[in-house]
Amino acid sequence: MAKTVKLGILFVYVILLFASCKEVPVTERKQLILIPESGEMKLGEDAFRKIIKESKLSNNRDIVDKVKKVGSRIAKASNRTHYKWEFIVIEDDSTANAFCLPGGKIGIYTGILPYTKDEKGLAAVIGHEVGHAIARHGAERMSTALLAQAGQIALNLIVDVDDPMVLDALNRAYGLGTEIGVILPFSRKQELEADRIGVSLMDKAEYNAIGALEFWKRMKQGRQGKQPLVYLSTHPVDDKRIAEIEKLLQIKK
Ligand SMILES: [Zn+2]
Repeated sequence: MAKTVKLGILFVYVILLFASCKEVPVTERKQLILIPESGEMKLGEDAFRKIIKESKLSNNRDIVDKVKKVGSRIAKASNRTHYKWEFIVIEDDSTANAFCLPGGKIGIYTGILPYTKDEKGLAAVIGHEVGHAIARHGAERMSTALLAQAGQIALNLIVDVDDPMVLDALNRAYGLGTEIGVILPFSRKQELEADRIGVSLMDKAEYNAIGALEFWKRMKQGRQGKQPLVYLSTHPVDDKRIAEIEKLLQIKK
């Protein structure tokens, strides 16, 4: 049998084995995920170790403690007890960015702190990022890419999660590319969904969810500043996003 035919059959098998229609928490949207959560978590773990090795971590105790405190409250609210939560602060004032990798690996760049400003602002950005992670948006996007790309990555994923190509795909899925042009934004649907989950997590963790609205308004203002903000290349802020968050806050009143 030709090698490509064998690969094709294997790919179909892999899809049947792992494809399942999942449901996003909070929004209950149905999504197709082809990647097992254990594989996604392993990728998250590997990417996180790589980031830790390559970054300058902050040793400002006040900031690190605050991120851990807020992060732990949001993490608890997410009810993902099988995640191994970790929080780091990366010393980089020129990068306004934050992420949550699968498995609960959270990173905050010091450059985003002027925009988060206070604890509820930090809860807003962490809530939003945890929202992407627990809704498995990265896995969803990788799944779409897999369908489009003949399954080679899928095979690698099952066979060898240490493959640099797989790690690279995950990095890009979570907006961690180094060049702005390489970073793929989440879809608008996923962005609004992460906002919705984030607000719900803030609520559960007893943070005033108005912090989300204030944070995005500060980001919007920042966009008008001189330096382009990295965060905005993956998380575009527009009037629609702000209006949707306002709507969410009103629903709860
Ligand atoms: Zn986002």
